[in-house]
Amino acid sequence: RARHKGNSHWHYYDAAMDEEIRQLHCLRTEFSQALARDELVLFFQPKINLHTHAVIGVEVLVRWRKDGRYIAPGQFFPAIEATDLMRLLDSWVLRETLRHLANWQRQFRALPVSVNLSAMSLKHDDFLPMVERLLAQYPQVACLLEIEVLETLSQQEAMQIAHKLEHCRALGIRIALDDFGTGASSLVHLQQLPFDTIKIDQRFVRQMIEFPDNEAIIRSMVSYASHSGRRLVAEGIESQPIWQRLLELGCEEGQGYEISPPMSEETLALWLMEWHAGAAMPA
Ligand code: C2E
Ligand code: MG
Ligand code: MG
Ligand code: MG
Repeated sequence: RARHKGNSHWHYYDAAMDEEIRQLHCLRTEFSQALARDELVLFFQPKINLHTHAVIGVEVLVRWRKDGRYIAPGQFFPAIEATDLMRLLDSWVLRETLRHLANWQRQFRALPVSVNLSAMSLKHDDFLPMVERLLAQYPQVACLLEIEVLETLSQQEAMQIAHKLEHCRALGIRIALDDFGTGASSLVHLQQLPFDTIKIDQRFVRQMIEFPDNEAIIRSMVSYASHSGRRLVAEGIESQPIWQRLLELGCEEGQGYEISPPMSEETLALWLMEWHAGAAMPA
């Protein structure tokens, strides 16, 4: 329809693009102010052993506290993804995570924590120096830290960061490949990356029972993980049947709404107490 209107189509198109760019720009400005004003918050989602129900760690998921609500990354990452703000966010998250880790270790117990880092942060020249500075500030937490790297890396990015991840491992940090099975990367080039854990993407898990193909894929991941001596964690466990089926398939670790959604630090403390009390009771 727009084509028949001749030029006006392009005017319309330009206006829409302008508006989109304006909004992105606006969101960027707001976000950089949020960073400066400490409006970001760490949320935590527990990971458990699906068999014993023991809590094996938590994943850090960032939230932006805006106008009294918590905004999830999906709503602001598109605006900051290709900018330096992403890197600033990641360093803030990493620093805050280590601070929490050190506090928890002092206060009650050593709780392993996974943190998501973007390829952009990992590629940056200051990445390893930053990690070393932070570990010097918070000694003895490296062995409790895991870095989650998205499997959607390009081959070039994988090559650029492989040695950095290797260095992190030498410092005692573990590496997880996140959203496994969603990248366009070949398994051959994934093998060049040093990693300890594979996280099965929630797309395979959530629709496991409706689509039997997903079960076959998960089966092959279970087999790959056990042959290569890696840990396997399922994401997006939303029901009891899926939980049980994962156990039957040999996947022993997982996280998801059926266990708990991501929570604030205060809620996590309460959740851990209740969970442990519940876990002690006979099923
Ligand atoms: P992810 O690392 O794969 O994290 C899992 C996402 O799935 C989280 O979304 C989590 O809230 C959600 N989730 C967990 N359990 C379930 C479930 O049972 N069902 C469903 N439908 N969803 C579930 P969230 O918090 O919105 O984060 C989205 C993505 O943003 C993360 O995916 C991660 O890639 C990225 N992200 C989050 N925090 C950070 C951060 O601090 N730095 C960086 N670089 N990326 C982050
Ligand atoms: Mg993750
Ligand atoms: Mg994931
Ligand atoms: Mg994801």
